[in-house]
Order: sequence, then structure tokens, then C-alpha cells
Amino acid sequence: MAGKGCIMFLKRRWPILALAAAVLVAGALLLRQPASPAAAFRAYPEGLTQCDVTLRLDEDAHTLAVSETFLYRNDTGDSLDHLVLRTWLNAFATEETSPAALEETWDACYVAGFSPGYLTVFDVIWKGERAQYAYVNADRTALRVEIPPLEDGEEGTLLFRCVAQLPLCAYRTGYTDRTYRLGNVIPVLSLYRDGQWRTEEYAPIGDPFVSACADYTVTLHAPEGLTPACSAPLEKGEDGAWRGSIRAARDLALCLSDGYVRAEKTVRGVKVLSYADSREGAERALGYVCRAVETFTDLYGAAPYPALSVCQADVPFGGMEYPGLMMLGRRNYLESRADTLELTAAHETAHQWFYALVGSDSYYAPWQDEGICEYAMLRYVRARYGQGSWETLKAARVDAPMQENVPGSLTPGSPVDYFPDYDAYTSVVYGRGAALMLALDRWLPEGADGFLRAYADEFAYGFASRTDFEAFLSRYAGMDAGPLLLDYLDTAH
Ligand SMILES: [Zn+2]
Repeated sequence: MAGKGCIMFLKRRWPILALAAAVLVAGALLLRQPASPAAAFRAYPEGLTQCDVTLRLDEDAHTLAVSETFLYRNDTGDSLDHLVLRTWLNAFATEETSPAALEETWDACYVAGFSPGYLTVFDVIWKGERAQYAYVNADRTALRVEIPPLEDGEEGTLLFRCVAQLPLCAYRTGYTDRTYRLGNVIPVLSLYRDGQWRTEEYAPIGDPFVSACADYTVTLHAPEGLTPACSAPLEKGEDGAWRGSIRAARDLALCLSDGYVRAEKTVRGVKVLSYADSREGAERALGYVCRAVETFTDLYGAAPYPALSVCQADVPFGGMEYPGLMMLGRRNYLESRADTLELTAAHETAHQWFYALVGSDSYYAPWQDEGICEYAMLRYVRARYGQGSWETLKAARVDAPMQENVPGSLTPGSPVDYFPDYDAYTSVVYGRGAALMLALDRWLPEGADGFLRAYADEFAYGFASRTDFEAFLSRYAGMDAGPLLLDYLDTAH
């Protein structure tokens, strides 16, 4: 998850002894390397929405003042009379709509009882004029902004100001003590596809977030003593403000803590920044993420951003990915959970390629990033620890889910709002989604990795629907991939 869901529940532990034994023979089975080394950086697309964000965190009120200036160019091919911003924080306003208020996560998240989170909007100004706006879905996570007709190719500036009331909640959104997880707090432009803006509600299972890439510059005013990590890596200026930027990002997330120790290392041209409660934890997570960046760069081509931050965070699941940043659950850092930390770090790192670089429909086709990232995590294990560890992990994470009884007619091709709980979601979307990738690995002469590398290049910083995936796969394979996808994605076993 976070999912993007990249929620990986910790109960599915990988036998640590198998890992330890495998380490001894690591290197015996080498990963098939691509013919040419990956370039250090990819070329960013031009003409994306430019967004200047200024944030001011108030530690007493637990609020984040947000000021955003979007320079938006209509490249939809349609004439637009409105824009849509995603205001995900509003889902936290009530127990009925909060994704953290699920029975299975309530106690872990609301450590001091229910605490609401919501946005208060102050200014919505389009081209210097106040604009009409209204929420257009039940949980108020889609804000429609009326604009005069904006033809294809035309541009305009939207100024948006709001204050986010943060919930006391140990979730990807919220604060606890002097730590803040600001995932899906900063409003972003929604994704426009097939003649309309996406406005789905915040489904509690999975990562329902779908948005287009934009170039962000960030200025953060934070209280003294808090160390921020951000999708856009930040440097502190002489005036005390933190500033940074990230290009072609689908979202912008931050974590802040008064207890963070930072460790960093550059691999394959990517500066990995690790933030944790202890030097030991920061170094350990740094090592895992660096290995994963190396592995996936070799397999799937250059990473999408020149920096990647990994943050120890109070979340009720294994981890959560954002562009240029991942949250890893606090408990993963226990020595006894070293295997879980490594696997979660690998899975979340894979999301930098499959979610952040190649956007897909996390609401209607969550398998398309989760199944691929589970497969990529398996590939990481094979590259690092050999065939034996791969087989052990595959049995637990893919073969077992293929044999489980799951409720109703759930399939990997189901949208997130079909799933009643995380167990079913994990088995079906992660496990059976990864089974599709293993099938592709057997079916394609170049294996699944060759396809995924081409897929990453084809859709870099763009969006691949399931239809796009199928069409590209069929073209790549030289035959109709439809029956195979139907079998794995839409057939209840
Ligand atoms: Zn994931």
C-alpha cells in the first residue's frame, strides 16, 4: 500500500532463517543483467503543470497552512469548464468516511480516540478572479472549480489557499507526538481521462489515489527541532525556511519528526535519504533501499527522480509509497523484523517505477502497481539471495494466495472498493497479481523483466490504463495477451 497501498501486512513474514541461509550462497545465481547499463536520469516531460507550494506547520494547532499556485495548461484535447482538485484529507473528517476508522485499524490509528482531519478552503482564484467551487463527492475529497472555457492548449493560473486540520492519527495522514505524516494532505490536481476528471471517494482498502504528474517547488516553514523529509528533498535556507523541488511527480508527501536521524548515500545516481529514530535504523533501511534501487535500476531502467527519502513512520501497515518518498512502518525497524523491513523496503522502492514513474489506475486496477511491485520484490530477492530464497518467498507470497479461498467473486481485476478487508486485498491483488507477472515471465521469451523495462520506458511519467497495458503487452509479445489477462485478472479461482 498505500498503498498505494502499499499496505503490506506484517503477518506474512518471510522465514528469516531462509534468508540467512540464502545470504551464504548469495551470488551463486546471478541476475540476468541488461545489455546496457541504465542511464542515471530520465528526460522529464515538458509542459507539465507547474505548482509552487508554500506550507506552514503550526505545532500548537496541528494545522498545515497550504498555499498553492498551479500554472495549468490544458492538454486534454477537450475544452474545459472546470478543474478538479483532490482534497483527500476531508475523508478524515468523520468516523464514517475515515479510511483509518476501519475496525481492523481503528485501535492502532486512533491512539487517543477519534480525531478529525479536514481542509478549510480560503481562496480559490482563477486568473485573478475568485472562482466558484464545490465538493462533488460524498466524502468531500473532490473539489470542482468552475472556470471560463479553457480550450486545448490554453493555460491559466489557479491560486488555492487552505488550512489543513491534521488528525491525531497513526496513519499515512496524521500526527502523533512530535511526528507528522503528511501523505495526501496537500491538494493535487485530479487526473483527466476519457472526457472527465476522476472523482472517486477515498476507499479505505488500498490506495485509491490517481493523479497526473506536475512539477513542484516547495517552501516549508516548520517549527524548530522538526526534521522534514519530503518528496522534494529540502534544504534549509538562512531564513530558516526549507526549500526544494521535484519534477514530474503525481503527489507531494512529507514526514517530519523531532527524533529523526538522517543517513544518506548515492547509488545509480539516486541520492537516498533515510530518516529513522536511531542511527542504526536509518543505516539499515538505507542499505536495503540502496540495494533495491540498484536492482531495479539494472532491471527496469533509471529511477524517476534524483532523490528518494525513506522515513520510519507510525502507520498500521508495512509501508506506503509516494513519489520520491516512502513511509516504512515503525515496527519493521525492530531487529526481529529485519526480513520484513527489507522486503517492505524493496516493495516500496519498486513503486518508484510502478506507480510513480508509470502511473496506473490504483482505484480500478490496483493489481497493476501492487502485483507488479510484489513481483519486483521477488526479483530483488532472487538477485540478492538466489533461487532458494526466491522459491521460499514465492511459495508464501504467491503460491499460497493462489490456493486460498477468498470471499465471493473477488479477482485481481476488482476495484479497491470491492474488497472487504486487507487480508482479501493482500491475497488477491498482491499475491494473485504477482502470479500474473510470473506467468508473463514464463510466457515471454525475454521474461517479465524485459517487458517491464519496455513498459516503464513507454509510459514514463504518463498513465497506463489496463487497456494500455494489454495493448502494449500484446504488441510487445506479438500475440494477443487478452486471454492470459482474463484468466489471471478476472477469473475467480
Ligand atoms: Zn505496494
